[in-house]
Amino acid sequence: MTHLFGGIEGGGTKFLCAVGTAPGDIRREARFPTTTPAETLRQAVDFFKQAERDFGRLSALGVASFGPLDPHPASPAYGRILSTPKPGWTNADIVGPLRSAFDLPIAFDTDVNGAALGEWTWGAAQGLETFLYLTVGTGIGGGMMANGKLLHGLLHPEMGHILLPHDRIGDPFEGACPFHKDCFEGLASGPALEKRWGQRAETLPSDHPAWRLEAHYIALALVNYILTFSPQRIIIGGGVGGRDDLLPLIRTEVQTLLNGYVQSPAVTQHMDGYIVHPALGSRAGMLGAIALARQAITS
Ligand code: ZN
Repeated sequence: MTHLFGGIEGGGTKFLCAVGTAPGDIRREARFPTTTPAETLRQAVDFFKQAERDFGRLSALGVASFGPLDPHPASPAYGRILSTPKPGWTNADIVGPLRSAFDLPIAFDTDVNGAALGEWTWGAAQGLETFLYLTVGTGIGGGMMANGKLLHGLLHPEMGHILLPHDRIGDPFEGACPFHKDCFEGLASGPALEKRWGQRAETLPSDHPAWRLEAHYIALALVNYILTFSPQRIIIGGGVGGRDDLLPLIRTEVQTLLNGYVQSPAVTQHMDGYIVHPALGSRAGMLGAIALARQAITS
């Protein structure tokens, strides 16, 4: 029997729903703006109900959502968004409405853990056991697979909010994170770039000093992750992190900061294959949701 899966990439500005089995077999996709939880979830339910009428019964649903969220099935807050600055979404129940509408296994995880699983299943992390998927865009977040399992812990890692050395003479920008000001996200997300330089990140040309500083902050974070988790590869995506001109700057800066300390050929000789873009490109999130659904019936 061929299993058919439903996937939801739940973002702060849009929800992307898809039905399929793998990257080459996505039968239907739809996207709609993230409005209220009730309206947004109802549109998702309607989409999958119609897909079941057209393609047959789904085997599982996977939800890769913006956070923070509670991914632990035994917890009272399981399936919910936790405290978020996004109006109306604090404590929003994501899994509940889906469970009421569909009698199916439902997997629920962060967007970045989903993307990591997608890259592990079909993309740039195939065959690895321990690797990091980092997105740098509207926000910054990291999904981590450690020894073959997605890392959750207390809730889930919040790699975008780590604290980095901030030279306030070289970079007087105070930071844009509403919780911590100059954490990693506060210094290096797309909105932080826009605030610091007075123009949208995508309009900053390749030779603008913004990119050297951006590469420096991303490299500082990566060095901390490399020394903490010892990832076999680091995948960087997102609206800012996905830029081709940024990757060489990041690789060079990581090597400078590590200063030869991590004695693995992956880092000392093969940096081009160590810090890479997602092989699934901008579809990593949606395909990650499908991958979460697949995992829900095999685990
Ligand atoms: Zn922060």
